[in-house]
Amino acid sequence: MALYVHKYGGTSVGTVDRIRHVANKITQARRQGNDIVVVVSAMSGETDRLLGLAREMQEHPNPRELDVLLSTGEQVTIALLCMALESDGCPASSYTGAQAKILTDASHTKARIIDIDTSRLRKDLDQGKVVVVAGFQGVNEEGDITTLGRGGSDTTAVALAAALKADECRIYTDVDGVYTTDPRVEPRARRLDRITFEEMLEMASLGSKVLQIRAVEFAGKYNVPLRVLSTFDDGPGTLITYEEEEMEQALISGIAFNRDEAKLTVEGVPDQPGIAAAILGPIADANIEVDMIVQNVAENDTTDFTFTVHRNDYAKALDILQGVCQKLGAKKVTGDDQIVKVSMVGVGMRSHAGIASRMFRALADEGINIRMISTSEIKVSVVLDEKYLELAVRTLHETFGLDQAPAA
Ligand code: ADP
Ligand code: ASP
Ligand code: MG
Repeated sequence: MALYVHKYGGTSVGTVDRIRHVANKITQARRQGNDIVVVVSAMSGETDRLLGLAREMQEHPNPRELDVLLSTGEQVTIALLCMALESDGCPASSYTGAQAKILTDASHTKARIIDIDTSRLRKDLDQGKVVVVAGFQGVNEEGDITTLGRGGSDTTAVALAAALKADECRIYTDVDGVYTTDPRVEPRARRLDRITFEEMLEMASLGSKVLQIRAVEFAGKYNVPLRVLSTFDDGPGTLITYEEEEMEQALISGIAFNRDEAKLTVEGVPDQPGIAAAILGPIADANIEVDMIVQNVAENDTTDFTFTVHRNDYAKALDILQGVCQKLGAKKVTGDDQIVKVSMVGVGMRSHAGIASRMFRALADEGINIRMISTSEIKVSVVLDEKYLELAVRTLHETFGLDQAPAA
């Protein structure tokens, strides 16, 4: 008998009928003799709706209260799913994060899981029950409700799978696996049978929202077999695996993109030691995360310093830089929040030179101007004007042979 953790995302539980469909799938898996622990998200759109309500009430709501509010979304779906399971004749119990004893640190709205005490869940499983746990939430040492950041139900599922030593963690969603790129942007994207943890981690951190980054991190660290598959169609999905020697590696596994970027430049900064710290220090103090950083070669003893931040932090960062600019005697601050980052990811890049230049050539041939570049061992990222996003993704997808073969 195997133990599976199933996770169903927002679209998969978006209506009463869909919750019934999910209950049906679980009942079938149960009748095959497997133990099932289920993690569910809030119904689609619900977390955004709750966030909207909070923002109507207060511009910067207290994070503790925000977590109390946001966690209600998942509480609705665990109860409804258990009702659907009961009416299918499949005994089930629901658990909020706190009831499931998912202990987290105290960082509200982006908490990390520290420990899960599974003894009560185990008891239910031993009695033949399906265990249904609210995703995205936990409880801190004080007993306060915390949430795990957007997409956090993926992490709840993986953490439970690790704690229960499940045979597989199955992330059921509205696509039938991990694709070479978001199929909403490139309809010719192809489902991957497998992808390595390392590549999936890069894809997730570079903007592919199919899995939360922390879920991939966690699965890699605790060796949790992880699979992404469709709630609505049968199929093998995509297995996230360790790299195997004999695996024939594609040069590029996927293309990720991030629309949430903005860039800022301090122009004409005196070129002297301590400049980067003087510019980025106040940005870090304001809790703003910096992504790419570029400092130009000095000319006439001054230099330009550019970096990117999340678009939500753009206005705040711009404001801080005005002050920094004056203090440093720099020329001016400029910025652009209509930019995106497009990245190519693949472990095959390690052993092949020239990927980046082929990428730049392909973009140039389409008249797409590259504003910033950054590379690492298994990825190349470029910053582009927002209007070029779709064209860039499709061009690179074709250039690197990722398109699916046309239907016969
Ligand atoms: P859920 O609500 O089930 O958690 P998400 O919306 O978080 O679902 O994630 C699934 C979505 O991720 C897909 O609908 C798809 O548009 C998007 N996506 C982005 N990049 C990829 C990719 N490389 N492969 C598959 N899906 C992707
Ligand atoms: N409901 C949360 C969100 O929308 C968590 C999740 O679905 O994973 O981000
Ligand atoms: Mg998700």
